[in-house]
Amino acid sequence: MARRQLDLVMMRKTFLPFALPDITEAEIAEVVAALQSNWITTGPRTRQFEQDFAAYLGVAEALGLNSCTAGLHVALAAAGIGPGDEVITTTFTFCATVNVIEHVGARPVLVDITPDTLNIDPARVEAAVSSRTRAVIPVHYGGQCCDMQSIVALARDHDLTVIEDCAHALPATCDGHTAGTLGDFASFSFYATKTMTTAEGGMLVAREPDRLDQARIFSLHGMSRDAWKRFSATGSWYYEVVVPGFKYNMTDLSAALGLTQLRRLEEMQHKRELIAAVYNQAFQTVSALEIPSVRPGMRHAWHLYPLRLHLEQLRIDRAQFIEELKHQNIGTSVHYIPIHLHPFYRDRYGYHPERFPVARHEYERLISLPIYSQMSLQDADDVAAAVMTLVERFRR
Ligand SMILES: *Cc1c(COP(=O)(O)O)cnc(C)c1O
Repeated sequence: MARRQLDLVMMRKTFLPFALPDITEAEIAEVVAALQSNWITTGPRTRQFEQDFAAYLGVAEALGLNSCTAGLHVALAAAGIGPGDEVITTTFTFCATVNVIEHVGARPVLVDITPDTLNIDPARVEAAVSSRTRAVIPVHYGGQCCDMQSIVALARDHDLTVIEDCAHALPATCDGHTAGTLGDFASFSFYATKTMTTAEGGMLVAREPDRLDQARIFSLHGMSRDAWKRFSATGSWYYEVVVPGFKYNMTDLSAALGLTQLRRLEEMQHKRELIAAVYNQAFQTVSALEIPSVRPGMRHAWHLYPLRLHLEQLRIDRAQFIEELKHQNIGTSVHYIPIHLHPFYRDRYGYHPERFPVARHEYERLISLPIYSQMSLQDADDVAAAVMTLVERFRR
């Protein structure tokens, strides 16, 4: 009872959401300017954002889209992947990574993760390669790069297209290389909860400009811009549909947000690094808790802070831990329910839960703590205090 009262004294007065976007007056002003310009869909601000983003990554070109999912989809389409083909990816990801493989009619081949980084295990990728394998989609989980050296090497050996799911990996580096510059394609997300946002949006980059041009055609109804160039004498009204494409273009309203957020990316990153440091400091000596492990040479984007519980040292499970944190006014989440546990994939491919034991085991003991630039360091201290209170109260 005494402990209960102590909690109530220390508890936050207001609920801390798991994630919030970080929108300032600068973003608002740029969106208003876009609205007042009369050019509201794909136009000059999208072009500018594409150029700024490409310059930030250090690549020649980028393609603004309405989501990261769209980028993954058009990358697969541009790589010519379809029925009869297999695409290898991790079971420990958001469903979008795998759904797009179904969208092009290919077969997703899931593999397990390495327990330290929770990233796709290159040895298991190698073991899963068959004569039908055409591509691999590594996901830089939480903001830490996959072992791209191994993945790129095995992709070269087996002639596979590498499509990096960079939804968490901005800004991140892999052994000194910017995340998104090592694969054949890379798709970034600007969803509301990501490290920078355009409300909804994404950006696709490719190592070869021709492949990005292909993706660009797929992203807008299959209309070819080359036709405009070739038939320039006929005027700007002329286009040719060369493939039944999709409707995935970015709007200039989104780009207005993106242009401004990109300028603030490093400032926002710095804040997340400070929050991660608060958590690491608070938890690193607590035996019931396991902090995220960062391999040397990696710049972590800290999109997620997945804290793992040593459940054998606690009297409550992960679900109860989350409920208790909610009672202490702390919002959390879980990333991810492994893909092979979802009914569609489980039933379609007959996956047993234990098929990927590392993902299954880690999933059951992790909690994503709030980590975003709109949080204050006091908020981070509150989260750490709430976690510590629960560990004390429920220690075995
Ligand atoms: C958010 C996310 C996506 C999808 O991003 P959208 O921009 O919402 O389409 C894809 N993969 C992963 C790993 C994600 O977290």
